[in-house]
Amino acid sequence: MAVETALEEIAAVVRTCTLCRLHEGRTNAVPGEGSSRAALFLIGEAPGKQEDKAGRPFVGMAGRILEKALREAGVGRSEVFITNVVKCRPPDNRNPKADEMKACRTYLLRQIGCVRPSVLVALGAISLRSLLGGSGSLTSQREEDTEFQGIPLVATYHPASTRYSRVFRERLVEDLRRARSMSR
Ligand code: URA
Ligand code: SF4
Repeated sequence: MAVETALEEIAAVVRTCTLCRLHEGRTNAVPGEGSSRAALFLIGEAPGKQEDKAGRPFVGMAGRILEKALREAGVGRSEVFITNVVKCRPPDNRNPKADEMKACRTYLLRQIGCVRPSVLVALGAISLRSLLGGSGSLTSQREEDTEFQGIPLVATYHPASTRYSRVFRERLVEDLRRARSMSR
């Protein structure tokens, strides 16, 4: 099956998924999107209000920051696939719970299996902990080389968390640039 078709099939299942309680409050599930041949696979935390409305990842404030950072890092849209550890918006944007991340994990793994990116990028501590377990802080873990499912994993700041910090914003760009250089 073509990779595009397989990704679209996963997205279709996600849109009607009721595996965890997060389906109750959603307007739209947000499966994720991007190039089926993406070298970089970006993993955020969860859809926010704008994303829930649009059914698309990173379209609100965090999305604008992410897009600018990708541009500054020289990463083109065709080089990325963007999704989240949970595909439905948690009520009041609370953090996703362990059982919700566990329920949703199969979709993430299947998407990674389809795209087979050369680098995974965890956006923020929640995403990082969901992938690797543990409770490490992002600042300590972003310096370390790790991998997930045999694929190199770069940990960086969540775009929203860089909003008031020029230093974090610069590190986000730096990490995206590094991820890109690892991908070739
Ligand atoms: N924040 C996230 O983690 N993901 C989105 O899709 C939007 C905001
Ligand atoms: Fe299903 Fe994931 Fe949405 Fe939970 S968050 S209902 S597991 S798609």
